[in-house]
Amino acid sequence: MESLSPNSSVNEMALRQLDLAADSIDLDPNLRARLRKPDHALIVSVPVRMDDESVHVFTGYRVQHNDVLGPFKGGIRYYPDLNLGEVSALAMWMTWKCSLAGLPFGGAKGGIACDPKQLSRKEIQGMTRRYTAELLNFIGPQIDIPAPDMGTNEQVMAWIMDTYSQHKGYAVPGIVTGKPVAIGGTLGRKEATGRGVVYALEQAVDSLGLDLQKCSVLIQGFGNVGSVTGRELARLGVSVVGVSDRSGGIYNPRGLPVEAVARFKEQNNKLLEFPEGEKIGGKEFLELPCDILIPSASEMQITQENAGKLKCRIIAEGANGPTTPEADKILADMGVLVIPDILANAGGVIVSYFEWVQDLQNFFWTEDEINKQLKEMMTRSFRSVLEASRKERASLRLAALMIAIQRVGRAMLLRGLYA
Ligand code: GLU
Repeated sequence: MESLSPNSSVNEMALRQLDLAADSIDLDPNLRARLRKPDHALIVSVPVRMDDESVHVFTGYRVQHNDVLGPFKGGIRYYPDLNLGEVSALAMWMTWKCSLAGLPFGGAKGGIACDPKQLSRKEIQGMTRRYTAELLNFIGPQIDIPAPDMGTNEQVMAWIMDTYSQHKGYAVPGIVTGKPVAIGGTLGRKEATGRGVVYALEQAVDSLGLDLQKCSVLIQGFGNVGSVTGRELARLGVSVVGVSDRSGGIYNPRGLPVEAVARFKEQNNKLLEFPEGEKIGGKEFLELPCDILIPSASEMQITQENAGKLKCRIIAEGANGPTTPEADKILADMGVLVIPDILANAGGVIVSYFEWVQDLQNFFWTEDEINKQLKEMMTRSFRSVLEASRKERASLRLAALMIAIQRVGRAMLLRGLYA
């Protein structure tokens, strides 16, 4: 019954990070014990009638880590090897991410172990609706608000919103964020994570006295986060020298035509088949020379095996959990500045917050307002983490975790333990 246990290397890693930060802030041991475990972890069976009329039973998850600061918030991931441990880690990271950004949300994550690329649109819709039905008593605009993540998109959010609304008997746009604008979504949500990465990078580059325009960038993963980040950087005139997806990577030290690459990828093509650039296999890709590396694929990509071989000066974590604690140490010794996930990729959940506020008020903002507020919040967040890291002589990751965990801990103490 491995799937019933939250044990996994990713969860161990999240717990290690929590322990390191808890030690540094001398966190009350009772709070630490509470925060090591999620509030709720739900496993559901999701039977789906497949196109060939057979029934396949998928396994779905929703882990709600902590809601002391507000309703649970976090994405839904459709991914083949998804397990409870990974979802638990991702839920905990959402608690820290929302706390660090100053959002009135707790942390959650969910998903279904499946390969959406192998499923038809009809099968994905059926699976999404049945999964939502299983979660009906556990989610709500004031309880737990899902959003997109790996393998899900606006359309999946629309089906979740519709299923929930059908059960309530009226439209409930505030049940999910990252939904299409036509049904209560917000402008700028799809681009938010990538834009946020760029705003964080602008601050990081500035803090090192470098010029972003002169930096070369390598992007691992060309999904929503990687492709928007690449496009935004290219728009600013920054040279993107390499991009990769699961098929492999392409590299050109003189810069790649990012718009053309993104359009090629959108047509469901493998990046490795892009006609330009040198082809570089998965593992060596991260070791290519660049100033800025942006891992925006999955967890544990930068480990003690390859950290010493990286040739970048800055890492901006578009993905959640791409760097292990062992790699963090090696990178710190090498003088590489790591902008941690809970800071670098917070743009998504920040604009999710704007979407939720707009839905609750039925009053919608312009894209300029969204981007302006996003930039302000990312900049403020980066500066407070940088200041704490200088004061505490800690890495940006440790400083970010210290701030985030302290806020959650303080709120828990104020609210007290109900027993
Ligand atoms: N899935 C995104 C994340 O990992 C966004 C979550 C949200 O908007 O709730 O931060």
